[in-house]
Amino acid sequence: ISIRLFCEVTLTVGKMISLETEQSHYLKNVMRCKINEKILVFDNVTGEYAAEIINIHKRSVDIEILEKTKTRYVPGDVWLIFCPLKKTRTDFLIEKSTEIGLRRFLPTFSNKTQTKTISLNRCRKNIVEAVEQCGGTFIPEISPISSLSKVIEQQPEDRILIFCDETLESKSINECLLLERPQKVAVLVGPEGGFSHSERKLLRTKKNILPVSLGNRILRAETAAVVALTMWHSMVGDWLKKLDHQNHES
Ligand code: SAM
Repeated sequence: ISIRLFCEVTLTVGKMISLETEQSHYLKNVMRCKINEKILVFDNVTGEYAAEIINIHKRSVDIEILEKTKTRYVPGDVWLIFCPLKKTRTDFLIEKSTEIGLRRFLPTFSNKTQTKTISLNRCRKNIVEAVEQCGGTFIPEISPISSLSKVIEQQPEDRILIFCDETLESKSINECLLLERPQKVAVLVGPEGGFSHSERKLLRTKKNILPVSLGNRILRAETAAVVALTMWHSMVGDWLKKLDHQNHES
């Protein structure tokens, strides 16, 4: 079965569901599915299920939930604080970060952020599509955009802020992660223009901040996000732990 759809309703075996218009259109007109065909659905609450198409109407498709195929798996406790980039670059950042795995996106604007707005609907759509495509069962949350000072101020005390510092003056991320092994983190990546002098100064005075370097070249913001998340997952998070994704209870 290759078609995977996210359902807003909580799923249980035996339940009949009438899919929403966009998903029904996708199954009926794009994928040209027929009655009795099987698909996979997940709900961000209990997990993933095999389902069968039982009715195809003009504007809706009905499915029946057959059996559970995966228990919901919540990724390691990592957030990503990022500044809006150009549209396609933001799309890339959202899609790739979701695939790698995180719990929450926190969009922010700093002194050098060019675009101070972001379409949360577009982000949510990209998040859902990425989870559908990668086989995940958890939909990361996205918070409304807020200024960098506010986001930093509101960071919970027990969450370590991995500050991706492009000045290359900080220790390498692998050295820092090896030493500290922080389990609950927020990765902070700056905008195209980087952090201002005053922001960097402020960040360095805060408690629970881990300034890190991502190697000796300046990466684009979206690349930096992917690298930092990957490093955390491989040294501390999901990829370090031996997981049975089929049976793991979150
Ligand atoms: N305009 C800045 C400059 O020329 O120095 C570059 C900003 S970079 C495109 C965007 C963000 O990615 C930075 O603010 C930082 O958070 C992160 N970043 C990029 N390369 C990095 C590196 N080598 N180490 C740590 N963070 C990096």
